[in-house]
Amino acid sequence: MEIRLAQHSGFCFGVKRAIQIALEASDGQQDIFTLGPLIHSPQMVEELSRHGIRMAENPAELHNSTVIVRSHGISLSDKETLLKNGNVLIDATCPYVSKAQEHVRQLCSEGYPVVIIGDRDHPEVIAMLSYCGGETLVIGSPDEVPDKFWQKLGVLSQTTKNMALLQETVSRLLPHVKELRLFNTICTATSIRQEATTALAKISDLMIIIGGRNSSNTRMLAALCSGITKTLHVETADEISEEQISSQHRIGLTAGASTPDYLIVDVYNRINKLTGNRTTVTSVEDIPVNKEESC
Ligand code: SF4
Repeated sequence: MEIRLAQHSGFCFGVKRAIQIALEASDGQQDIFTLGPLIHSPQMVEELSRHGIRMAENPAELHNSTVIVRSHGISLSDKETLLKNGNVLIDATCPYVSKAQEHVRQLCSEGYPVVIIGDRDHPEVIAMLSYCGGETLVIGSPDEVPDKFWQKLGVLSQTTKNMALLQETVSRLLPHVKELRLFNTICTATSIRQEATTALAKISDLMIIIGGRNSSNTRMLAALCSGITKTLHVETADEISEEQISSQHRIGLTAGASTPDYLIVDVYNRINKLTGNRTTVTSVEDIPVNKEESC
């Protein structure tokens, strides 16, 4: 059996940055909070809690504390509530997300109704919507394009969606719009990870996707792979059984942008253990990486 890891697996730049900001802020401080999870990895959120970084669900719960704004941003109304309650905000919003928020604000100020292609319940999308006081619409799939006509329309994507979804949705919108202004807000980290994962899925009998079930970019990787080969989405290694992997010759691994390296290492070691291979690694750098490009 051969196990290979997709290039660009695990923490992206925005997640690394958010964790670094949070850990620096927590150094020597007692009351540090995030509103919602800092990143979409339950295991990493638990790890952060050991550094005194706790999570609150509701901005009204927080008073006179230090609050880290998570990588995918918070809504303007949540921000207002936090500031009104005397909290100090430290902004760990990913620059790609801040840029998308800026585009929403700009489009709205120029009178464009704004369409966001993404998941309407995702915190990043909820935060983006708050930057527009005018007409907004969230479209989750091309089939959701309404039968309506706009003189002008601004379109953006949730940063972790994929290009095929953006292209297909825009092509369905075009007949409904006189003037369409598009910002491609899919982040580079997401695009290159999806390409590397697709390349590996094409040569694998089984793809194991490692990452939070609440992580949009991880779920997107699982959806991409399941259209190509047999796919398993796990958060931790102990979810993998011998039965699931025993008859596979080539297993591909990939991980979402908020998945810490140690979870990837655990999965690699577990597969080896379940298949009677004594190889173990202690670092993700020791796992063979797939170098083949997608064709
Ligand atoms: S996935 Fe992209 S937008 Fe999200 S935190 Fe990472 S770099 Fe930023």
